[in-house]
Amino acid sequence: MTQETATQTAAPGAAEVPPTMKALVLLGPGEYEIQEVPTPKPAGDEVLCRVKAVAICGTDPKIVAGKFPGMWPPGYPFIAGHEWAGEVVALADGLEGSVKLAARFAPGTRVAGEAHKGCGICSNCMTGHYTVCLNYGDAASGHRHYGFTAQGAYAEYIVSSIKSVTPLPEGLTYHQGAMLDSAGVALHGVQRGRVTTGDVVLVTGPGAVGNFSFQYSRASGARCVIVLGRGPRLEQAVQMGAIGVDYEKVADPVARVIELTGGYGADCTIECAGTQQAIDWAVKCTRKGGRLVMAGLPTQTIEVPWGPMTLAELDILGVRANPNTAAPALALMANGMVTTEGIHTHTFPLVQFGEALATFVERRGGAMKVVLEP
Ligand SMILES: [Zn+2]
Ligand SMILES: [Zn+2]
Repeated sequence: MTQETATQTAAPGAAEVPPTMKALVLLGPGEYEIQEVPTPKPAGDEVLCRVKAVAICGTDPKIVAGKFPGMWPPGYPFIAGHEWAGEVVALADGLEGSVKLAARFAPGTRVAGEAHKGCGICSNCMTGHYTVCLNYGDAASGHRHYGFTAQGAYAEYIVSSIKSVTPLPEGLTYHQGAMLDSAGVALHGVQRGRVTTGDVVLVTGPGAVGNFSFQYSRASGARCVIVLGRGPRLEQAVQMGAIGVDYEKVADPVARVIELTGGYGADCTIECAGTQQAIDWAVKCTRKGGRLVMAGLPTQTIEVPWGPMTLAELDILGVRANPNTAAPALALMANGMVTTEGIHTHTFPLVQFGEALATFVERRGGAMKVVLEP
């Protein structure tokens, strides 16, 4: 990350950019503090944005705790955070030369950010699969993973490639924009699972990605969406129209799902829990020839029943983040087909990061997505 201390020239009409900013700086595993650090300066295809809202991702508590040594973050000090929305305040000089881009990302433009920016050159990037960029982590290639390998959004300002910011549709708030990461992952899973008109969909794990998976499946024409889970998160999905199966209340959750699907299982199952039990259920609840989308990220080694999966000819589809989904994910929020209500539950100022993190991790007060305001 390049940082300069000189006051940056603000575009006409834009607020002046101060030379330093407040940021939540990680100093070591489990160690962090709010510091005054140099405001980053945009270069190449980057814009500088004032972060207005940044949501805590399920990965963030592990990054903060130092569970991925040498990888996320690659070193200390480091600024994490990637589920953000904010306002463009300055463009890199190169971008100002492009009339179209300077207009699309003019200072004052409200945007939502994306964590991944591919190198743009490798064969995966060239075919749109930039979240599985072959030059991952090689900053010199142009690759960025904001909040993981490059400076993130737990700060007043962030620089981002214009490839990784999408203008917020009118009517959407910054808080809704900060839900884009979870929403985009869900939409990518729905697209990977080829959910289409009339499908019976099963979602396992009704957290934020699970709830959005239910909503984007419904918006994609699913005839019904069954959600397998428990507690207030399951209740939330049921209130929104999902068919709930509470594994704490039914004797045999698999039998119940099979019964609800007319004896065949789901056309497409979107697994969002990442646990051994949920993955076992997901396999058993998917019909022969069906699609099984793996959107949950297991933190331990999982035993996978390959025999039954092979004989059932299941299509197994991995999900890495949210490529090419920002515009449609936001559009469906803007037109009301998908809601963030009940998913974004808590908001804190960035200076209360510790309390916000504990609220998120311990699910205090039914917390699902917790937003920080730098
Ligand atoms: Zn995330
Ligand atoms: Zn690439």
